[in-house]
Amino acid sequence: MLVTGPRGTKDILPAASSNWQYIEKTVRDICRLYLYKEIRTPVFEHTELFLRGIGETTDIVEKEMYTFTDRGERSLTLRPENTAAVVRSFLENKLYAETLLNKLFYIGPMFRYDRPQAGRYRQFHQFGIEALGSKGPAIDAEVIMLAVQLLKKLGLDDLHLYLNSVGCPECRPVYREKLQSYLQEKTSNLCTDCQSRFDRNPMRILDCKKEKCAEQSQGAPQIVDCLCDECSEHFSQLKELLTLAGVEFTLNPRLVRGLDYYTKTAFEIQYAPLGAQSAVCGGGRYDGLVAECGGPSTPGIGFAVGIERILLALEKQNLLPEAANAIDVFIAPMGTAMQGMAFALLCNLRENSITAEMDFMEKGIKWQMKQANKYPARFVAIIGEDEAAQGKVMLKNMQTGVQELVDVNEIQQKIQLDMED
Ligand code: ATP
Ligand code: MG
Repeated sequence: MLVTGPRGTKDILPAASSNWQYIEKTVRDICRLYLYKEIRTPVFEHTELFLRGIGETTDIVEKEMYTFTDRGERSLTLRPENTAAVVRSFLENKLYAETLLNKLFYIGPMFRYDRPQAGRYRQFHQFGIEALGSKGPAIDAEVIMLAVQLLKKLGLDDLHLYLNSVGCPECRPVYREKLQSYLQEKTSNLCTDCQSRFDRNPMRILDCKKEKCAEQSQGAPQIVDCLCDECSEHFSQLKELLTLAGVEFTLNPRLVRGLDYYTKTAFEIQYAPLGAQSAVCGGGRYDGLVAECGGPSTPGIGFAVGIERILLALEKQNLLPEAANAIDVFIAPMGTAMQGMAFALLCNLRENSITAEMDFMEKGIKWQMKQANKYPARFVAIIGEDEAAQGKVMLKNMQTGVQELVDVNEIQQKIQLDMED
């Protein structure tokens, strides 16, 4: 159908775009405060990057990618997330040679073949940050703080921060084996996805959303009990730092995230009123990713926030600001003969940064006054034939109702004086 967009996509209509701009501005302000700089990467990448960077056993790679072959027979994929692409750009542009710690952020559309429903779309938007270069827990704490402070600044409370450590290539294999032997006899009770995860990526069974799988893994051993000294120390320091910063968190041993390259810290922020789509932010450390992509071994940590879900949460809580539609002047020419003068005045006001509009619909004064009130306009400049002949317009102050005959050249001054009051 030509008049229907593809399933899972959504138009951001003029009436809603100010909400997006509001969130984007809040994001940019907080990134400036924390000194994260924007990086803009393409919306498509070589498919290979995501296979490597996200992991072949993840839902994203197995079921959700928009992959196509271009006319040059290359396999390309619309980005389903942006960490891999940021790492690709970090390597390609040797950002590691510029500074020891790269603090980056992005905002943009992502694409996943998900099952569309409230808070879940096929084209959706993420804001995310990546800090590349530091392995210490302080940067983990900063990254989490940025997410928490952003959501707070937007006015959202009732948020829950869940925290876990998923270990590292040293200690994870030990845990993996323990988990496998625990689940060994229960595999026939798992969903088919989890049955295939058992060998390939058993930790993912822990975060399967199906009830029967959750039941089976109920008493499973926990990774936090199997961490090596380094991971364990890193985790306790992070918890200490968050406590120092006054951030509340809940330990969640089931939080393993979908991605293979995650090491140590894993976290998620949930906003419960969103129901099944309650995850608004997911992130973690990925010390293995840069090397996996062929670069010099570099630790990293980041998160991604789903902007549509934030928007839903803000709508639910009535936290979105009113759109700013007010204008300074509405110019009302009385008759088409006055349009030339009206247009000249319009141009002049705009050149002087005064928000002005004129009647382009060639309507009568009644409609024009109504229109002016809709914005609302602070002034209406009525251009009648007699006044125009003297180079004057009737300027009506819509707040006081006072109108006076003003020389065209003085309008700007009058309005600016009023703005200063
Ligand atoms: P979920 O379990 O809800 O599918 P996820 O683990 O796939 O989430 P991440 O890959 O961690 O999500 O992405 C980070 C954030 O992006 C999520 O917390 C969510 O807010 C948002 N997000 C993910 N997929 C979608 C989607 N299809 N539509 C809208 N937002 C999404
Ligand atoms: Mg998902």
